[in-house]
Amino acid sequence: MTVSLAPRAQTHRGADALHALAEAGNAQLGSLTDHEASPEAVVRWVAENFSTDAVAVACSMADAALPHLVAAQLPGVDVLFLDTGYHFAETRHTRDEVQRALDVRVVDVLPEQTVAEQDTAFGEKLYARDPGLCCARRKVEPLHDALAGYEVWFTGVRREEAPTRTRTPLVAWDERNGLVKVNPVAAWTFDDLLGYAGAHAVPVNLLVANGYPSIGCEPCTRPVAPGEDPRAGRWAGLSKTECGLHL
Ligand code: SF4
Repeated sequence: MTVSLAPRAQTHRGADALHALAEAGNAQLGSLTDHEASPEAVVRWVAENFSTDAVAVACSMADAALPHLVAAQLPGVDVLFLDTGYHFAETRHTRDEVQRALDVRVVDVLPEQTVAEQDTAFGEKLYARDPGLCCARRKVEPLHDALAGYEVWFTGVRREEAPTRTRTPLVAWDERNGLVKVNPVAAWTFDDLLGYAGAHAVPVNLLVANGYPSIGCEPCTRPVAPGEDPRAGRWAGLSKTECGLHL
C-alpha cells in the first residue's frame, strides 16, 4: 500500500535549540574518538531527547537494519522512502517487507512530477544527461520538504562507503534541512551491516547478494565486482558519486 507523505510532527523547538542539542549529543557520544558510542547508544540518546513523532528514518531499502535498530527503541517511527519512480522491483518489494515486518510507518516521499511529467518537461532520460538535476528534483528537494515536519533524521551513512564519508560524525546539525542529523552506524563495515541484518532477520534487498552493495535507482546502478569500491556501481562512468542527500 502506498502511503502519501504526511509528516506527523510539527517542529516545536527552534533551530538554535536543535543546533545546540546536536553539538551536545556529538560531544556526549564521543563521535570519531576511541570512546565512540555504539549504534544502540546513539538511538537511545535520540529516544531520550526527542518524541517519536519528531523522528524520521531515511531508508533506501537496500536493507532494513537501520529501521530495525531505531524501531527497537522508537516503535512506530516514520521511515522515509524516496519513491523516485525509477526503483528496481526488488527495492519496491523490500519496501513492502519493511512495512510488513517492522513496527514502523513507511512514508513514500514523492517528487513533484511523475517520471512521465518530467520527461515532458525536460525530455526523456534526464538521468543520463543531467543526473544532478534529476537527483535534485526526485530526491533532494522532496526529502527537504518531507524533513520539514521533523526535528531529527537518521541516516545509514557509513564511513567506509566512500572517501567523502570518512569523517561522518554520529550526530550533526543539518544546516540545509534545518534539523538534527544522526548517523548511528557510521562506524559499521559492510560485514557489520550484514551481520546485524542476519542476526535480527530483517529484510534485505535481494540485489545485495547479487553484486549490489549500494542500491539506487535502476538506470543509475550497476553491480560491482569483488574488491571494487562498493559505490562504484552508482552513476558508473560519470563524475557524480553522491545523490546530494548527504553533502
Ligand atoms: S539516481 Fe538516477 S534516476 Fe534516480 S534520481 Fe538520481 S539521476 Fe534520477
